[in-house]
Amino acid sequence: MSAKKEELRIGFYVCHCGHNIAAMVDCAVVARYVETLPGVALSRDYKYMCSDPGQELIQQDIREHRLNRVVVASCSPLLHEHTFRGAVEAGGLNPFYFHMVNIREHDSWVHTDRGEATEKAKALARAAIQRVAHHKALEIKKVEIHPDVLVVGGGIAGIHAAMTLANAGKKVYLVEREPSIGGHMAKFDKTFPTLDCAACILTPKMSEVGSHPNITLWTYSEVTKVDGFVGNYTVQVKRKARYVNEDLCTGCQDCISHCVFKEPKFADDFNEGLGKRKPIFIPFPQATPQAVLIDPEVCLNFKRNKNPDGSPVVGDKCKKTCVEACGEKHAIDFTQKDTLQEVKVGSIIVCTGFKTYDAGRSPAYGYGNYKNVYTALEVERLVNASGPTGGEVILREGKNADGSPKTPKSIGIIHCVGSRDKKTNLWCSRVCCMYSMKLAHLLREHTGAEMYNFYIDMRTPGKGYEEFYNKLLEEGTHFIRGRVGEVTDWAMTPEEEGRLVIRVEDTLAGVVRRIPVDMVVLATGLEPQADAGEVRRLFNMSCGGDGWFLERHPKLAPVSTFTDGVFLAGCCQGPKDIPDTVAQAGAAAAEALVLIDKGYIEQEPNTAHILEDECSGCKSCIPLCPYTAILFDEGRKKAYINEALCKGCGTCVGSCPSASIVQNLFDDQEIFSEIEGVLAYD
Ligand SMILES: Cc1cc2nc3c(=O)[nH]c(=O)nc-3n(C[C@H](O)[C@H](O)[C@H](O)COP(=O)(O)OP(=O)(O)OC[C@H]3O[C@@H](n4cnc5c(N)ncnc54)[C@H](O)[C@@H]3O)c2cc1C
Repeated sequence: MSAKKEELRIGFYVCHCGHNIAAMVDCAVVARYVETLPGVALSRDYKYMCSDPGQELIQQDIREHRLNRVVVASCSPLLHEHTFRGAVEAGGLNPFYFHMVNIREHDSWVHTDRGEATEKAKALARAAIQRVAHHKALEIKKVEIHPDVLVVGGGIAGIHAAMTLANAGKKVYLVEREPSIGGHMAKFDKTFPTLDCAACILTPKMSEVGSHPNITLWTYSEVTKVDGFVGNYTVQVKRKARYVNEDLCTGCQDCISHCVFKEPKFADDFNEGLGKRKPIFIPFPQATPQAVLIDPEVCLNFKRNKNPDGSPVVGDKCKKTCVEACGEKHAIDFTQKDTLQEVKVGSIIVCTGFKTYDAGRSPAYGYGNYKNVYTALEVERLVNASGPTGGEVILREGKNADGSPKTPKSIGIIHCVGSRDKKTNLWCSRVCCMYSMKLAHLLREHTGAEMYNFYIDMRTPGKGYEEFYNKLLEEGTHFIRGRVGEVTDWAMTPEEEGRLVIRVEDTLAGVVRRIPVDMVVLATGLEPQADAGEVRRLFNMSCGGDGWFLERHPKLAPVSTFTDGVFLAGCCQGPKDIPDTVAQAGAAAAEALVLIDKGYIEQEPNTAHILEDECSGCKSCIPLCPYTAILFDEGRKKAYINEALCKGCGTCVGSCPSASIVQNLFDDQEIFSEIEGVLAYD
């Protein structure tokens, strides 16, 4: 005797979402229509279904009206599917007997005719009612979380995220590609708006990271491979050869002073090329780790040719005075090779930061053409006591009558270089107005120069930022509103002779001005890192059209990505200042902590599985899976799916030539009933 078929008792709820839906869809009419459909036990409209009373309504109805299916017509499932599934479960029903219809983004927000929008809502509701009848009870699986965390990028974001986790007792691997952590902040002398000394706040944090028992710090290293899934990632890290054993080096720097190169000769990247360094060097005085490294491209002990593995060939031309100077420590090791290390972690925080806009791309401003045109980062190093000039601001070109270096008497700072411009980048880089004013203050302090700031709009939305602007006005900095047309050395008056002239339309006064200055500073905007595309692929993240890494939801999940267990913090997600960066890094660390402390994650059961008898073993699904979730059993010649990796995207289901892959919540009956439902509506 066959089991008695369960009577369908569907509860339908249409949400007004304030005016978001109700202004364009007649919710009461939709509710009355759905009431007439087969299997519907009750149909209601309600102002805010996601509110507590809305959810309680569902729970109460399930109990009182013995509902065995629930449909809510409201906003995007991305926003509230979990909320309603929770309410359905709390009402005593399997949460997968629920279905959600999006009549906001798919209907009320995109239509202008109320009658037609209401008809569309009815058709979508009918489709959902027909579909939910075929829903099955599903079970959520639990996956254990490995408690260790990988933080990628050791700028202020990575440092703060790593410290937060380590202080909470979690083990952290911090991977930084430069020889020291610190990121951009390590290059600054002072930070806006408080003008506190950057090194004084950053250096203690850097050394804490370096000595924290819960942090394994790998500088001069890069992640090369990531396998696995949330809770269980296996990460391969390439540790580049420093030719100095970090554990043995004490940072005494005797090797540097004994190098056969008596004077620094090679461009120093940390100082933006304004200073020189030797082949053996430490990036900056506060570097963490305090360990030197050797640049094999210029060190005399290496030959220019390479071994088959890409490592430089060690020669014998140099006297190796550095080795002698290192003495008993034996830290210098010319035979060191790049190594690969593998770690297992449960979650990952990506903090890879930004690069600044290449000023050479805006030739009208003369960078690279006129020596006294500088980028803001160069000026950060110039005004820095530990910079190449010890904090003295002297011009690259021009000398005083006695031959001594020249100090600028007037300086122009051009805002928005590579920002807010259709020809370069559309976005506002958020920090340039503030750092331009900081540099105006510092340059004036160091030189006594007359300061001119050329801006399009002054953007100072931050705590103490508007006050900082007022302070600059009081100091006598000139602010000229208008996008600069060009920087030229073509003099029209004796006053302009031998100087740079900034030509700008002053849009407040309505005149074109020519301002002669001795030095020009370009406030270059912030851009995604050059390798953001590769990093995105490595960690399976998404990028927005502008190239910044994309958060899962700008308001509700601003530090999560579309890959579970991978979080974002700092400027890799978009331009921001240090306070916002630190706040975001704390939030990302907290999200990782939530995962770790719970110990497991619940996995959506909307995964695909293979009907083994039907699988022909053609393997066509394997390369199509974006999550590498499909594997092949060579013994049985059948494909199989690792459910922990499957994200339920459905690519394999649609592509399988023998229709042997099915997906929970998206089986043929469910989908065809939904299509029939929408088409049957007239
Ligand atoms: C000229 C200038 C002045 C500024 N002044 C101020 C100021 O005074 N006050 C303020 O609040 N903000 C200021 N800012 C903004 C500030 O620089 C940022 O808010 C801050 O640096 C963001 O930190 P971050 O860690 O996100 O990025 P970053 O500082 O860029 O650090 C990212 C780190 O990740 C590393 N990395 C990148 N890719 C990889 C990879 N694939 N693997 C491993 N490591 C990687 C980088 O080497 C770097 O160490 C200024 C910005 C500029 C350009």
